[in-house]
Amino acid sequence: MSQMHELAIIGGGPAGHTAAIYAKRGGVDFVVFNDGLTGGQIATTATLENYPGVVGPISGVEFSQLMDKQAEQIGFEFEASRIEKITEENDHFVLTDDYDESWRAKVIILAAGAHYRPFPLEETPKYHGRGLSYCATCDGNFFRGQSVAVVGGGDTALEDALYLSRICEKVYLVHRRREFRGQPVLQWQVRGVENIELVMPYTPQRIEGEDGVEALVVKNKETGEPKRLEVTGIFSALGLLPNSELVEGMVETTDYGYVKVDARMHTSHPRIFAAGDVTDSPLRQIAVAVGQAAIAAETARCWINENCAIEMERG
Ligand SMILES: Cc1cc2nc3c(=O)[nH]c(=O)nc-3n(C[C@H](O)[C@H](O)[C@H](O)COP(=O)(O)OP(=O)(O)OC[C@H]3O[C@@H](n4cnc5c(N)ncnc54)[C@H](O)[C@@H]3O)c2cc1C
Repeated sequence: MSQMHELAIIGGGPAGHTAAIYAKRGGVDFVVFNDGLTGGQIATTATLENYPGVVGPISGVEFSQLMDKQAEQIGFEFEASRIEKITEENDHFVLTDDYDESWRAKVIILAAGAHYRPFPLEETPKYHGRGLSYCATCDGNFFRGQSVAVVGGGDTALEDALYLSRICEKVYLVHRRREFRGQPVLQWQVRGVENIELVMPYTPQRIEGEDGVEALVVKNKETGEPKRLEVTGIFSALGLLPNSELVEGMVETTDYGYVKVDARMHTSHPRIFAAGDVTDSPLRQIAVAVGQAAIAAETARCWINENCAIEMERG
C-alpha cells in the first residue's frame, strides 16, 4: 500500500511550483508531479519581461531554471511522472501514473496547465516533427532563411510571426478573420515588418509534401478562393486547451473544459483545488497562476489543518 500524503500537487509549471513552495513552508506533507518541461509552458518562450522582479528580458528556459534552483534550495523535488488516473476511495484519492505506480493523498491541487490546440487538418500527425510545429522559439531556427506560415490571430501568433521574421526569409501570417485578437501593440509591430505577409481572412485546407511540409493550401473564407503558400514550416498558434481530463466528471468545468474555481480556488469537489491555466481564469499569465496557486496551497493547508487563519467551508 502506497504512503498516504496530505496533499498531491499535479503540475510543475509556475502554479505547481508555487503551490509546492507554500505547502513546504506551511509544513504540509505533499508530493508534486511533473511530466513535462521544467517550468511548464513558460519554458517555451524566448523572452519574459512582464513578471515583477525579472530584469532582463530573460528567456523562459532561464526563468524555469531559476524555479528549479529555488525548489532545490527550499527542499522539494518533483516526481517525474505523468498522472493518468485519479480515483476516490473513502476519504482519500489514489493517483496512478503511466507506469501503474500509485500514490495516495487526502487533497489535490490540480495545476496541470494547458496544451496547444491541435492543428485542425486530418493529415496533421504526418507532419509533426516534419515541418509542423507548435513552438516558434523552440523550432524556428530549423527554418532559418526559409519561408514559413504562422496560423492564428492572438498574441502567440503575432509574437511568433515577429520572432520568425528575424530568422526566416518570409512569414505568412494566416488568420481566419479580418481583425486580430492580439494586443494592438503587437498588431502594429507585425504590420510594420516587411517580410510578414498577412493572409486574411483565410483558413488552412491542406498541407502538401511527401517527406515534409512543402506547401500550405489556404482558402478565403469570404470568396472560397484557394491560395497555395510555398512554405517548409507551419507554426500553429491556435490557442490552448486545458489539461483537465484527469478530473473530468469529478469537478465542474466550463464548456471548453476549464476548471471552475472560486476566490479560494475551491473546485466543485470539496477536496480538489485548482490553480493556473487549467482554471477558468480570465487571464492566463504567470502572475495569475502563481497568485492562484498561493491561495490554493493555503486553502488546502487549511482543509488539512484546522488551525489556520482563513475561514473556510468544509465539504
Ligand atoms: C509561448 C508562450 C509564451 C508565454 N509568455 C508569457 C509571458 O511573457 N508572461 C507571462 O506571464 N506568461 C506567459 N505565457 C503564459 C504562461 O506560460 C502560463 O500562463 C503559465 O505557464 C501557466 O502556468 P501553469 O503552472 O498553470 O501551467 P503550465 O505552465 O502549463 O504547467 C503545467 C505543467 O503540468 C504538467 N502536467 C500536466 N498534466 C500533468 C499530469 N497529468 N501529470 C503530471 N504533470 C502534468 C505539464 O507538463 C506542465 O509542465 C506564455 C505561454 C506561452 C505558451
